[in-house]
Amino acid sequence: MLRSKLPDVGVTIFTVMSKLSNDHNAINLSQGFPDFDVHPDLLDLVNKYMRSGHNQYAPMQGVSILREMIAEKVMKLYSAGYDPGSEITVTSGATEALFAAITAVVHQGDEVIVLEPAFDSYVPAIKLNGGIPVYVKFKFPEYRIDWDEVKQAVTSKTRLIILNSPHNPTGAVWSHEDIAALKHIVMDTEVLILSDEVYEHIIFDGLGHESISRHPELVSRSFVISSFGKTYHTTGWKIGYCLAPAVLSKEFQKVHQFLTFASNTPIQLAYAEFMRNRDVYLNLSNFYQRKRDRFLTLIEKSRFKPIPCYGTYFQMLDYSEISDESDVEFSKRLIIEHGVASIPPSAFYHQKDDHNVLRFCFAKKDETLNKAAEKLCQI
Ligand code: PMP
Ligand code: GLN
Repeated sequence: MLRSKLPDVGVTIFTVMSKLSNDHNAINLSQGFPDFDVHPDLLDLVNKYMRSGHNQYAPMQGVSILREMIAEKVMKLYSAGYDPGSEITVTSGATEALFAAITAVVHQGDEVIVLEPAFDSYVPAIKLNGGIPVYVKFKFPEYRIDWDEVKQAVTSKTRLIILNSPHNPTGAVWSHEDIAALKHIVMDTEVLILSDEVYEHIIFDGLGHESISRHPELVSRSFVISSFGKTYHTTGWKIGYCLAPAVLSKEFQKVHQFLTFASNTPIQLAYAEFMRNRDVYLNLSNFYQRKRDRFLTLIEKSRFKPIPCYGTYFQMLDYSEISDESDVEFSKRLIIEHGVASIPPSAFYHQKDDHNVLRFCFAKKDETLNKAAEKLCQI
């Protein structure tokens, strides 16, 4: 009899909700992906590199020009000095980077602090490596972290703490005070940090992204992960990267080389060239802030109540005025009876905490948002 390594895991909530949405021909605001096109210049660049013969294995760490462009970007944005030769690894999406980082450092019996709600790939990766997730919850409805609780969760067995800002699914972002509290907690410990910053360029209302890479005291113990999929509307291309000091990168690359060996060559070359135009990622926050504001204005008269979103392309909406069904039940009914798909955030909690809110993705064409909002306002 086959003994499952992940007995409690089924298919992800993103797969379930996107399928249900397709089956019922609903407007899909569930899984996080844009429904608008990739910049034509980026498509031309991929085509150019494919047609000019760049179709074989990339170097294991990623093509050098892309690592150099990433180093330049993080230096300009965060004053972070990562060596492209030994401290940057290009990966097959942030998902692979998260898995490689966790696998590189988590041993049997190590504890890993996970802040809930948490992106769904963290805990399975911890468990597959014999680690023990230790959960601390964001305080609903502000989604703030009580750092005293985090401090209490740290033991002599804590190997890693996983952070994510801007935060999926809540839209919360770290403040300077959060980082100060984190520094204080890890200061005299050997706890490592895994910072998931895939939404680094999608942050609103004039807030700045508190990248861990800005803080030299934290950099020495941190893996910082990002994804080109979010930044360039190319979630299907699956390219991300990991920044980490050389000692950590060396262990990270030992895993990466046997997970995938290397990532897609022509796409890496295309991103490297496209990144020369810094305006694309520098203007992304404005682009998505307009989307967020449009969506909020459109649903103003509905019975859904928004919870403030400061970053990412997800908006949490409280439906407690409409129904007292569980978020899973209500999200399914929303698809089947009203034609709009969302994500029930209980899927991001190990005990399936339910606050009668749903997560809606606003990375959509204006016409898609108009149609979805019209339906939401009729409920
Ligand atoms: N972390 C978070 C918080 C995400 O929302 C996503 C999006 N899927 C990922 C990681 C994975 O990114 P990628 O698609 O590059 O694997
Ligand atoms: N990050 C995306 C989301 O949160 C989906 C990722 C996935 O489907 N694995 O919706």
